[in-house]
Amino acid sequence: MALVWSLVGLIVGPFLAHAIRRLPGREGLRVMPVCGVCGETLPFRAFSSLLASILGSRGGCGLCGAGPDGQGVAVELVTAAAFGGLFLRYGATPMLLLTSFYTSILIVVLFIDWRHRLILNRVTYPGLVLALILTPAVAPVTPGMTLLGAAFGGLVFGLVFEVGLLVYRKPAIALGDVKLAALVGAMAGYPAVLTALLLGTFAGAVASVALLATRRGSRHDYMPYGPALCVGTYLSFFINLLGA
Ligand SMILES: [Zn+2]
Repeated sequence: MALVWSLVGLIVGPFLAHAIRRLPGREGLRVMPVCGVCGETLPFRAFSSLLASILGSRGGCGLCGAGPDGQGVAVELVTAAAFGGLFLRYGATPMLLLTSFYTSILIVVLFIDWRHRLILNRVTYPGLVLALILTPAVAPVTPGMTLLGAAFGGLVFGLVFEVGLLVYRKPAIALGDVKLAALVGAMAGYPAVLTALLLGTFAGAVASVALLATRRGSRHDYMPYGPALCVGTYLSFFINLLGA
């Protein structure tokens, strides 16, 4: 059954990959898949980069000759694995649908932030509104605790943002990270937001040390707090049931 839900992840994955390619631009979402390199519209059979790469070059771009999008393949595989894991945790319950939906949003945030160093308001704002409604509707969390979770996440990261400005005279984290923390808080509710933020901070620290150790980053480089927060939140779905 977990494999079946992974297959659902494989179906959802191409849509997430499409959103990740299209949302940062100003051209709108569009229906047809586009080349990740030159932006050329591709035939519909190229919608799944994974399928295109398995079937061979037929999924490639006619204009620039680029093969199937590697990032798209990664997004589809990550989504399938993440969905399979959630099934093992929650089984066939409404919570599975809720956490899978939240994980889809987190995957979109993670890949866009990783690639563009951007956390888009057009993802976090609607996500926040949806999470404030869906968490109390599906999970054993009251609307008040959901709101408290969002406020807690936003305030803690807002404080880090302000302290960074005061101490370093430049932002230690981006304002998008603050909005993401509020979104995460609304997804998890209070007190599960604590687990999500702690795991996210821990994942960010591990990633920073790994980047420094491999000399691929200096201390002044961008640290991937957004992606780390996304990973931490996903992991928290396994430790806490939402709200618990
Ligand atoms: Zn192309």
